Amino acid sequence: MAKRSVLSDDELLSLAEEFTLEKDFFKLGVKLNFPILEINKSLKECKDDVFRATVMSLHHWRDLQRPGTDVRSKLYTILKELGHHKAADVLVTGDDDFDKKSLLRTVEVCTPSESSASITKNMDLQSDLADEVSMVSSAMSQSDYSMSVKKDSKFDESGSGSEKPSEPRSTGLTDYLDQMNVDRTPDPSVDVGVAGWVNKTGAAMQPRIGAPGADRLTDIRPSIGHLETLRLEDYQVELAEPALQGHNTCVVAPTGSGKTYVAVAVAQEVLRKSPGKKVIFVVNQVPLVHQQSTVFKKYIKDVAYICGDHGQPQITRLPMDQVLRKNDVVVLTAQILVDALTKGQVSFNQIGIIVFDECHETKKDSQYNAIMAKYMEQKLKNKKPLPQILGMTASLGVGNARSDKIAIQYMLKMCANMDVVKLSTVKKHKESLEKVVNKPEEGLHVVTSRTEDSFAEEIQDLMYQVFKYINSSTGSAVLNTTVEKLSSLRSSNHSRENFSHVLCKLKKEIAENTQSKDLQLGLMTCAQYLKEYSSALAIHETARTKDALQCLLEFIKEKSSKAVTTNTEKILIRTFQEKQQELERISMSPKSPNNPALDELQNLIERDIVTCRTQENNGPFRAILFTQTIASTWALQKWVMETDSLKDLHPEVLVGCRNPGMNLRHQTDVLDNFRNGVHKLLIATSVIQQGIDIPACNFVYRYNYITDAVARIQARGRTRKPGGRFDLVVHDYRGLDGKDKLSKEQEQIMQQATDAVSSLSIEQMILGTAEYQQHRNVQIFNQQRPKPFDQCNHSYHCKHCDALVCHSADIRIVPGGHHVVIHRQIFSKIRIVASRGVGQDPGHWSSVEHAKKEIRCADERCDTKLGSILKCNNRMLLAFSIKSLRLRSEASKTKTNKSWGSLPFIFQKVPVTEASFGFNDIPGTVA
Ligand SMILES: [Zn+2]
Repeated sequence: MAKRSVLSDDELLSLAEEFTLEKDFFKLGVKLNFPILEINKSLKECKDDVFRATVMSLHHWRDLQRPGTDVRSKLYTILKELGHHKAADVLVTGDDDFDKKSLLRTVEVCTPSESSASITKNMDLQSDLADEVSMVSSAMSQSDYSMSVKKDSKFDESGSGSEKPSEPRSTGLTDYLDQMNVDRTPDPSVDVGVAGWVNKTGAAMQPRIGAPGADRLTDIRPSIGHLETLRLEDYQVELAEPALQGHNTCVVAPTGSGKTYVAVAVAQEVLRKSPGKKVIFVVNQVPLVHQQSTVFKKYIKDVAYICGDHGQPQITRLPMDQVLRKNDVVVLTAQILVDALTKGQVSFNQIGIIVFDECHETKKDSQYNAIMAKYMEQKLKNKKPLPQILGMTASLGVGNARSDKIAIQYMLKMCANMDVVKLSTVKKHKESLEKVVNKPEEGLHVVTSRTEDSFAEEIQDLMYQVFKYINSSTGSAVLNTTVEKLSSLRSSNHSRENFSHVLCKLKKEIAENTQSKDLQLGLMTCAQYLKEYSSALAIHETARTKDALQCLLEFIKEKSSKAVTTNTEKILIRTFQEKQQELERISMSPKSPNNPALDELQNLIERDIVTCRTQENNGPFRAILFTQTIASTWALQKWVMETDSLKDLHPEVLVGCRNPGMNLRHQTDVLDNFRNGVHKLLIATSVIQQGIDIPACNFVYRYNYITDAVARIQARGRTRKPGGRFDLVVHDYRGLDGKDKLSKEQEQIMQQATDAVSSLSIEQMILGTAEYQQHRNVQIFNQQRPKPFDQCNHSYHCKHCDALVCHSADIRIVPGGHHVVIHRQIFSKIRIVASRGVGQDPGHWSSVEHAKKEIRCADERCDTKLGSILKCNNRMLLAFSIKSLRLRSEASKTKTNKSWGSLPFIFQKVPVTEASFGFNDIPGTVA
């Protein structure tokens, strides 16, 4: 019997005769338990000859079986399950001695019970789906957009008979294919019209992924219904390899090389290898959640995404564990995973793999690193199983490294942070990569400043008057030194960053050295005007004089419309108004010189518009203009719209979610309209430098805007089209061209370091990262020591006017992490007014929304915003922002903090009911 179970080569040949379709071959390969890559490889080795590939695979499979295994029975079962009755018959009829009965018995024994399991499973899925659909539709009726959990419904759409639960099927395979999304229909003829296994000649009709050039595509697997076939380029397969083997991997490949598809392939493999485990895909920006989950949904059935949608109230909320239970892949922002892990809604042993998009962020206090800290904690405790880690980036970065050695150390440290043992780059298939990724031509344009600049001189004079005022109202030597320094910085354009730095120092000194509250309020107001003048100069340098003036006029208008103002403020307003006419005259005068930087930018854009018009292969004009500040994006937009040769580009602004930014919906709309050509020019801050997919862009202009090497590569990666350009326009006096040269050099160092680190073997990587991991573990241990409550009961003051607001004892933390004040006395320390701007996102995943009211300083002359009123189940919460407050204690000096978390102590956590007020309890303006 043992001898009989072995198949002869001839038998394998006749079996394989039935396999002429790649789809059938693929199903067989999966059933034989070959990894997807193996199947794909054998097809390629046989030059897509399915018959030969089948013979080869069957040989290989037979050889893998342990001696004595009943290969014949196993194969018979597989072939029957796959519906290849003829091939199965070959096994039975091939030899008279063969024990048909025992063979048939094997099949019967294994089939029926598994079939019924399959039915149950399908029914479960259907009822789950019914829940999901009703949930989703009720969510839709509440709000048309802000659905934070969305699911790809599939069974109801397919309408295919093969999905009916009443149809019994064998299931070893069914389960397999369930996870794989492989077509489950046994009879190939049923598949006509369904996107299935594609042969190379028909490839052009298939949806392409990742990259152009269908003839170079490699098929990875077939799919069911509307799920598409994932097809990877050679280089993408190479990138995926270490991760497919189960190693913690960091994939480094250029923007536009389709790293997400590499992640999809790895995710499919993880789901196949470890049934029941989940794939978590973590992104660092809200708009990416939607974008990346869309990619996954094309290839994997149960994909959900979760995000806190900025500026959108009424978010549908499901606990993380529920979302995870119903889906194989969950795409989310890092903070949501941090929260869920902290709250214990999800644990690492549920997760098969965590993918970090833009993983070069896994450093310092980032949320990525917070996730990895929790992972390392488990690793230290030797708690298993831990999820696999996959990082993806265009460049890991090298910090400030100027030498290869330091750069390599930096990268090893990054790998240690991610527990990565393999840096995966394209080495073998460089050609295949180069066909896909375009390296745009770079240009550097150094411009001089305006020949004469009376506007800047007038603004500097205004600043001088503020300095004079400060000096006259205080005798403090400390202040005078700082003011002196500011005064020397005000007139030099290249030291604007320095100026705002010293200005911060001045504010701190005012708070520490001023005895009277009124004096502090006055001096802080002076600092505010200095800041405003400085940013007007920045706009003047970037855009037109009239744009700079406009900003100043708006600022002054707001200040003079206040009901109560300090004497200082009155003086400052009057000083400005005395100059206003002169400023307006300068900005209107045709004699005033143009901004040479703007002229150069205009030339470049006009040149590129012409290129697009005359050279067909460039495609329609799409460009992104990067600039430093939000204020300058608006100014530049106005300039383009008022410039005849450019206004047809219909420029639109794209900035981040921070106040006063744009919410997700707005961002998505802008990006859609850029894709479809409504806007041909995007004017953006760094928000879209990372990750967000803007495929149709042929020109990138960086306008007086330099970043480090990583961001430089990111920005250049936006230029995706052949014939694209990457231009930099800078002022000569700012030394930015030198900085850009430096970051170019750094890019070279980074490339060399990446090559070096990616050549290391896994063993070498483990050795190389060990030291950093150890160091990090100590850090994690230290951080996790619990913080105490505040023993000194610090007081909190308005950072602008120093008025007392509350004490530590008045503060509680409510679910969602908001810091609220609970004592009624607070109402005498604050005023409540209707919100002016768009409210900031009240936080992910908490059932809190904005009440559209702000907390302001009680002193109307100061009027600083101290926090917001939040609403939760008709209760009101007074949430304060630590950034607007200044901490004082008897012992220590004053201190401002960027976040509540950075304080050395914590506050009591209480439910909303113990920390909130009824609507009627709250005095003040009622909208
Ligand atoms: Zn105040």
